[in-house]
Amino acid sequence: GIMDYMDETGQEEDLEVCGICCAAIDISRYNNRAKVVGPMSKQLKFVRSGVADVIVVDEQCVRTDVLEEAQAKNTAVLATTDKICLGLPDLTDEDADKVVSKLVNKEIEGALILDPEKLGEIAVKTAKILSPERANMKMLPDLDEIQKLAAECTECGWCQRVCPNSQPMMEAVVKAGEGDFTKLEELYLNDVCYTCGRCEQECERELPLMSMLAKVGERLSKEEKFTIRAGRGPAQDVEIRKVGAPLVLGDIPGVIAFVGCSNYPEGGKEVAEMAKEFLERNYIVLTTGCGAMSIGEYKDEEGKTLYEQYSGDFDARGLVNMGSCVSNSHVVGATIKVANIFAKKPLEGNFEEIADYILNRVGACGVAWGAYSQKAAAIATGVNRWGIPVVLGPHGSKYRRLYLGRADKKESWKIKDLRTGEVLEGEPAPEHLLYAAETREEALPMIAKLCIRPTDTAKGRQIKLNNYLDLYKRYFGRLAPDVHLFIRNEKDIPITYKKDVLNILEEVGWKPRKIAQEPSLMGMDGD
Ligand code: SF4
Ligand code: SF4
Repeated sequence: GIMDYMDETGQEEDLEVCGICCAAIDISRYNNRAKVVGPMSKQLKFVRSGVADVIVVDEQCVRTDVLEEAQAKNTAVLATTDKICLGLPDLTDEDADKVVSKLVNKEIEGALILDPEKLGEIAVKTAKILSPERANMKMLPDLDEIQKLAAECTECGWCQRVCPNSQPMMEAVVKAGEGDFTKLEELYLNDVCYTCGRCEQECERELPLMSMLAKVGERLSKEEKFTIRAGRGPAQDVEIRKVGAPLVLGDIPGVIAFVGCSNYPEGGKEVAEMAKEFLERNYIVLTTGCGAMSIGEYKDEEGKTLYEQYSGDFDARGLVNMGSCVSNSHVVGATIKVANIFAKKPLEGNFEEIADYILNRVGACGVAWGAYSQKAAAIATGVNRWGIPVVLGPHGSKYRRLYLGRADKKESWKIKDLRTGEVLEGEPAPEHLLYAAETREEALPMIAKLCIRPTDTAKGRQIKLNNYLDLYKRYFGRLAPDVHLFIRNEKDIPITYKKDVLNILEEVGWKPRKIAQEPSLMGMDGD
């Protein structure tokens, strides 16, 4: 509504429209003048900075204190859906100019406008009036003030104690009190502090820690210009036709989707580094929502983001931004299309067969490294239902539900070969459906392992195991102890690890086993 109104009234050069979180990706898909502020971790910093004259909230991932925070900066707030009304009066049927007048005269705290066209008019008119009024308002304390405020710190340590990631906020504040802001800058960069605001709530001196952080980062944020590939929506059928066979046979080792929120244990850089690792190893890397933006915030030594280094093709070494979190459905959609287009599985009324196909044949894995919202949990569960495993970051265990497999229970990995009807010895592939990793080092080999599927050809299995063993060895310093579970016969052993793997096989008394041509769990006990 806002972009349309600006276009229709010729004001597209007068105002800037930017988005945070999924809204950023959605508006930039719609209009190429829209700007991306960044993932959700930017929300409080951005609101505190007072840059916005008007804040429009959608239906998810909005801080519950957004109204109070915005009011403190004389920013008008408009709600747009009955899912988040913020207690604001519904003025959808009111004349637009009257609503604008009430907003700028502070007769109302904000308004709920359910008509997008009217919202566009109200938002633009309000911003034009408020902008000059707000131009001289001081939004953040200056650095001298920050030093004085920081010097009041009692070193009680509560800020650090309550921090979900135990970030060294106290140390940063103490240093700021001495006039050294480098520690605060370190927290600001890469969203190492994702500005949940919990430390500020607990501070016994009531120091405005988030405002202090936003001010210290102001200089850095001016240099923060990144590129992101626009969200593109679903994978096309022609693309699926091209990658269907190599994916199911294992020549492309997997599809890995980096999704979810920005509650990263050590900042957003980790997500980009993980994506890079798998791109280098020929995986198809998909991304959505805040994950897509975090990946765009990482530049290599030449100053290029991953989006500038890898193509946007849905193919090996492709980095595909599918869109906002809503576009996670397209990640699942791509795997469904593999079953439908490549294997001719009918779609209608056929959930079970397709999920069974994906679970046993499509090497896909989701990664929600900074998951914390209910939405992220719901998405992971939805993805799991289709047979796709998901690795969560360390905060994932707080969801209090993981789907962990037991590799030690051999009888639970039996598999049916639909071609012969035989029930065969199977393998833990994939071993888990929902797994929370403590560190990036733990997550990387696990993600590679969770892309192994019973239909891999010997060549495909070698490629996948090579990736798994490489990553495991790099971070754990030894050969993966469960490698024998994934060797069906000697042809599966990656050449570079042949000698070591053969030693393990001998140690555990390994025997070759029959490979299911059409592996399935349907019609098995406990199905
Ligand atoms: S805002 Fe949150 S993440 Fe940042 S230091 Fe404070 S408690 Fe930690
Ligand atoms: S909670 Fe406040 S007073 Fe206590 S250590 Fe942190 S910044 Fe200092």
